[in-house]
Amino acid sequence: MNIMLKWVRRIAIFLLLGAIVNVAVAWGCVIWLPIGKSAATTKGSMNWLASVPKGWPEHASFTRYQRFGLTEWAQGAQPPEGGDRMIRSLGQWVMEAGLPFRSMFLVRNQTYRWGQFPSSISARRPASIAEGLEIPAWVPWCGLNRYGRYLPTQIAWLGFAANTVAYGGVAWFAACIPVAIRRRTRSERGLCISCGYPRGTSPVCTECGEPLPSVVAK
Ligand SMILES: [Zn+2]
Repeated sequence: MNIMLKWVRRIAIFLLLGAIVNVAVAWGCVIWLPIGKSAATTKGSMNWLASVPKGWPEHASFTRYQRFGLTEWAQGAQPPEGGDRMIRSLGQWVMEAGLPFRSMFLVRNQTYRWGQFPSSISARRPASIAEGLEIPAWVPWCGLNRYGRYLPTQIAWLGFAANTVAYGGVAWFAACIPVAIRRRTRSERGLCISCGYPRGTSPVCTECGEPLPSVVAK
């Protein structure tokens, strides 16, 4: 088999493995890490994190809840001058999950009307896949927060790529350890490091054709 193709295939397998672990870790952070009191809260004003319906001001107030493996943003703004007077505010909820970088996220927008008791933006069921994936009831629940009922479904490309490479690299390294040990053991026992067949006097292994340096020269 072409050596180049072999390496490309090997790298692809480990990256796929890294991507799977990445998503599992991000979703695990949402499902199993308790939120609540440990979250560090920051408040301020900034542009919307995700797009909002036309006509709304670019700036919005925000509250950010940051903790291990999860970041949540609650943004809000008043309607613009001359806008619909029945509308009280626009809210946006962004949840980002992943370790070491945030790799998955969800976004929800919701307009609140005057005189309408606001249902929480993060409590309602997702209207589309971009708004998250509802966690089935049979999943054992360890989180404490109402925010955690939905899994983020959108990919934050930079964080996703970084995490995938990191997890794929760790998996690669872990997979290399037994191979390295086996090669060393075979070398010490005077066996071909490639296939484990006993070395003869030939400069190459008579079983697999692997070059056998040094030992043969004696
Ligand atoms: Zn061999």
